Amino acid sequence: MSNQIFHFSYRKTEELHQIAKDLKKLAVDYGYKLTEDYTKATVIISIGGDGAFLKSVRETHFRQDCLYAGIALTEQLGQYCDFHIHQLEEIMKAASDERWLVRRYPTIHGTVNNTKAFYVLNEFNIRSSIIRTLTMDIFINERHFETFRGDGMVIATPTGSTAYNKSVNGAIIDPLLPSMQVSELASLNNNRFRTLGSSFVLSPKRKLHIKIGSDENNEFPLIGMDSEALSIQHVHDIHLEVGDRFINIIKLPDNSFWDKVKRNFL
Ligand code: NAP
Ligand code: MN
Repeated sequence: MSNQIFHFSYRKTEELHQIAKDLKKLAVDYGYKLTEDYTKATVIISIGGDGAFLKSVRETHFRQDCLYAGIALTEQLGQYCDFHIHQLEEIMKAASDERWLVRRYPTIHGTVNNTKAFYVLNEFNIRSSIIRTLTMDIFINERHFETFRGDGMVIATPTGSTAYNKSVNGAIIDPLLPSMQVSELASLNNNRFRTLGSSFVLSPKRKLHIKIGSDENNEFPLIGMDSEALSIQHVHDIHLEVGDRFINIIKLPDNSFWDKVKRNFL
């Protein structure tokens, strides 16, 4: 009999209901308890792809006193899902104490307008929502670094480095290095405007401050936190730093971050 309490998180479709039902039955057969209340769970299991995993971490408020696991429905496992839906027995066995392997994935913590606090597991991104460019002043540890003018910026965690960050030519970062990578989206660079132009990676000791110009008719930028859009008007200040929380994920042996990168991209 195990002391583990499972919570399953998935989109409430007919197909996923059936899959979850089978999984729950198997979990009970293996001696695990189930709960509908994620705050009581010791293991939170998402069913779906990486997007579903990000959603389940967000909806359960980035708990760091429990374990997460991702079950993929397609052949492609993605970066967060170690388990395949056809490997149900494998999943239950891996959850049995002896074979329990856990990886810790870093997060980014931040605030918008000094109030709304959040964590992200993939990335934070800010983009102009109008045809005109977005102007932002970038400060590192409250010292002015650059004035950015362009489409926007992506600030990614190490595990998020294979997502949006990769599409804008950011580097892939080992999650054993808690850090955040800042990448530009189409910056203007000419005789009047100058930005670094390359991505840069900040350590947990640095703080990033983005100040948005108020006179730019661009007071409603698009803000993305993992797979969720935040809609608040008059965004003027964004503070970001490497998160104090880590997401603990159950993994199979011989399936490191770099094994996944190879599997998904090479
Ligand atoms: P989506 O538009 O359905 O996802 C985009 C793709 O990114 C999906 O194939 C998703 O995998 C994959 N993905 C998510 N996290 C990943 C990671 N850490 N490493 C590698 N691939 C990853 O939206 P979604 O499923 O809700 O995912 C949200 C993410 O989409 C955002 O966090 C952002 O990183 C990414 N995104 C990328 C771009 C871009 O590349 N231009 C633009 C916007 C958003 P699954 O199919 O397994 O879900
Ligand atoms: Mn998706």
